[in-house]
Amino acid sequence: MNTRIAEARAELLRMPLPRPMQSGSSSGKKGGPVSHINMPVVFITTEDGVRGLGYAWSLLGGATATRCVLKDDFAPLLVGEDALDNERLWDKLYRRLQTVGRVGLVTQAMSAVDLALWDIKGRVAGLPVYKLLGGRRESAPCYGSDGGWLYMSVQEMLAAFEGYLGQGMMGVKMKIGHEDYRKDVQRVREVRKALGDDAWIAVDANQKWDFPTALRVGRELEQLGVAWFEEPMLCEDIPVHARLAAALDIPIAMGETLGSRFEFDAYIRAGAADILQPDIVRVGGITEMVKIAALGDVAGLPLAPHHMMESTIQVACGVMAAAPIEYMPWIAAAFSEPARIENGRMFPPAGPGLGLTIPEETIRRFRVE
Ligand code: MG
Repeated sequence: MNTRIAEARAELLRMPLPRPMQSGSSSGKKGGPVSHINMPVVFITTEDGVRGLGYAWSLLGGATATRCVLKDDFAPLLVGEDALDNERLWDKLYRRLQTVGRVGLVTQAMSAVDLALWDIKGRVAGLPVYKLLGGRRESAPCYGSDGGWLYMSVQEMLAAFEGYLGQGMMGVKMKIGHEDYRKDVQRVREVRKALGDDAWIAVDANQKWDFPTALRVGRELEQLGVAWFEEPMLCEDIPVHARLAAALDIPIAMGETLGSRFEFDAYIRAGAADILQPDIVRVGGITEMVKIAALGDVAGLPLAPHHMMESTIQVACGVMAAAPIEYMPWIAAAFSEPARIENGRMFPPAGPGLGLTIPEETIRRFRVE
């Protein structure tokens, strides 16, 4: 079998979000909700005609730049290489552009390539990626996350949350991070009261606050029985997260904005996070995410992967014993295969590789020229 790469084709889709989003760090031009997601896509084809699909995502910028990196920088480096050599190619791409992007959009372009290479590996083997990775389990519990945005009223949030809980999901997550933190505490209090003491509720500040505010909010959240306090402060500041984690009992969840195993390792060494949240597209794809899962395992810290459930499910079921899936159908409309969720648990697609396809018609409809 000839698995040499013949072509790497880059596209960029701009997909409408199923429900507009607004968080403590992301809002639209006029401060309102964000309505679209950027989805850079790469199709890598071998000389034998096996085609792998990979993708990245971004909300507020970097979309055409990521496509440029895929097309201008990575495609020429990939053609002629063996598509099965994902470790070697990860290292080749990383070292080539390290000086212009150890984290951020270059890493996101690398992630798209890495996903496509794993997709090819699975298609060549005739196996889903999670089986190639280790087949740790067959499904993962989901929590509902696309229903707690800052612009939504408590009633609107509750309607979304009750939908998730009615499907048997383990719980829900809501955004906090208003200018006045007391508004957030009040909203969490009302959600807790409506859903009951036993409901699993996590909150996410998206790096909104400074240390005194985060400490004050964290103490309130402890009283409300919140499952975790996500991204309380600026992600670059590891020592301040270590101080907060030491001061609070509520677990600090961090990681969606970290870009590699080295950044996770720094958080772990500092005791600055209690729950690790790698995003498969921001850390460098499956190859890197598996290593971060091993770091978490050794440190005795739970993982709770961030977003991109359609591909993250492969790693979550391949190597993670207990990590939940964040149910966030932001790019679900791009794929032919609906996510398989039964009794609140997500299952990897049945097909080989990632088990995902994007129809050409979808590409034509949402393509950014
Ligand atoms: Mg988050």
